[in-house]
Amino acid sequence: MEAGGLRVLRRGRRGRAAARDGRGGVTQSFIQSKETTMSVSRIPRFYKLSVEERHVELRGRLDLDDDDLRILESGWHGSLSIDAANNMVENVISTHALPLGLGLNFRVNDRDYIVPMCVEEPSVIAAASNAAKSVRDGGGFTADADPPIMIAQVQIVGVPDTNVACVEILARRAELMAACDAAIPSLVRRGGGARGIEVRTLVASSEHEPGMLVVHLLVDCQDAMGANMVNTVAESVARRLAELAGGEPGLRILSNLADRRLVRVRCLVPLHALETKNFSGERVRDGVVAASRFAELDPYRAATHNKGIMNGVDAVVLATGNDWRGVEAGAHAYAARDGRYRPLAIWRVGPGGMLQGDLEMPMVVGTVGGTTRAHPGARLVMKLLGHPGAAELGMLIASVGLASNLSALRALACEGIQRGHMSLHARSVAMNAGASGALVEQVARELSELGDVRLERAVAIMARYTATSDALADAGE
Ligand code: NDP
Repeated sequence: MEAGGLRVLRRGRRGRAAARDGRGGVTQSFIQSKETTMSVSRIPRFYKLSVEERHVELRGRLDLDDDDLRILESGWHGSLSIDAANNMVENVISTHALPLGLGLNFRVNDRDYIVPMCVEEPSVIAAASNAAKSVRDGGGFTADADPPIMIAQVQIVGVPDTNVACVEILARRAELMAACDAAIPSLVRRGGGARGIEVRTLVASSEHEPGMLVVHLLVDCQDAMGANMVNTVAESVARRLAELAGGEPGLRILSNLADRRLVRVRCLVPLHALETKNFSGERVRDGVVAASRFAELDPYRAATHNKGIMNGVDAVVLATGNDWRGVEAGAHAYAARDGRYRPLAIWRVGPGGMLQGDLEMPMVVGTVGGTTRAHPGARLVMKLLGHPGAAELGMLIASVGLASNLSALRALACEGIQRGHMSLHARSVAMNAGASGALVEQVARELSELGDVRLERAVAIMARYTATSDALADAGE
């Protein structure tokens, strides 16, 4: 090991030197890119580097220190001590690891991002990076975000007259908003706080049944995801609300259908960036548009269409230590908001015949609070992203979702998804069959060439390699 915790690189690739100074620092990037700014997310041939070389490359591009490198080397989840984990959740016995990779080529609102993605599914990162490169050719993603308004719900049961209760509550709007703010003084000092009160009647009171109301407290949570904050707000005013309604307080909790905190992302992809060896740009564009129409017309397809979006979304949400269950719940509830499950992103022929993609979804993520700061790996991920605010992070995450969607639709509309997917999946199958080290790539290649990526086949290939190495060992070679 060298000073600084970096391992000495045993092999330079294709003549690229492992350049280090005496302090373990890196003096030279492995990749000569025409674009040399620190923030640039185009790193051609990054995928060809070893993991150690990728660390060196990153260190050369970003302001990473030895501690950051140690976290990367020890594994993202390795950075989470058992002790810290034990303080996060209950009944801890260990920590759980997943791969962390980099989504490349992302440009959102004229800014470049190298995007850490945490995901177990092969091809998600490569596919998103590939689509982001095509989008980049059209100028990148443009995105905007609503203010970070979360909804806290207060249920009131046993309301004798729901109409009177609504009037009573809304007449005390100013008093109630002040009470909400009083529960979250530091958030108010930061510029957040109560933004509105809405009352919805769920069951109108009648002679057969008392009424049920729900009061929505709208709270600007600034850079926090905000669940705990708005739950505190709901708790603080629930009794007063029930008193005004003449009923009893019921549940007091946020809604994950955060439809006041939407992000919107658009991209325009030029035809030349869609063209493949076998398909013209027009053909790919029209195939993607037809795939989008399919999802718009059929909830069975929309579910898979949206799963493709969530491949990218969840990977970044998870990497940043955010609550992916909340984002998932919000996404699917929003997709079904008019009573029918619909795609979160649609694709059309845009200006100049380009392919235009538009995505809109709730995005409840924070860059403070929750686990985002408590997990050392998540803190490093925020650093790699350039310490974005919550709105900026949300727009980036949605862009990764749109890129993932484009990539899946493009593959489906052309060769079909299996070819690209299976060649990456082949590596997992090879590992499941017991391959390790260089054998993983070798067995995966054989499986792909055979067009038969099954465990059974991988086991047979492995048996052949094992027999060969046993024979060599017996012969003393
Ligand atoms: P926290 O309870 O950690 O609150 C946010 C913290 O961030 C506060 O302590 C706040 O400080 C601090 N903060 C620092 N800077 C800022 C800033 N610029 N803007 C806003 N806050 C700032 O987290 P959340 O309220 O965000 O809740 C998220 C957690 O809640 C997640 O772990 C999630 O899993 C969990 N959760 C999720 C639910 C769901 O249904 N999805 C339900 C319940 C919990 P200060 O106190 O000084 O204001």
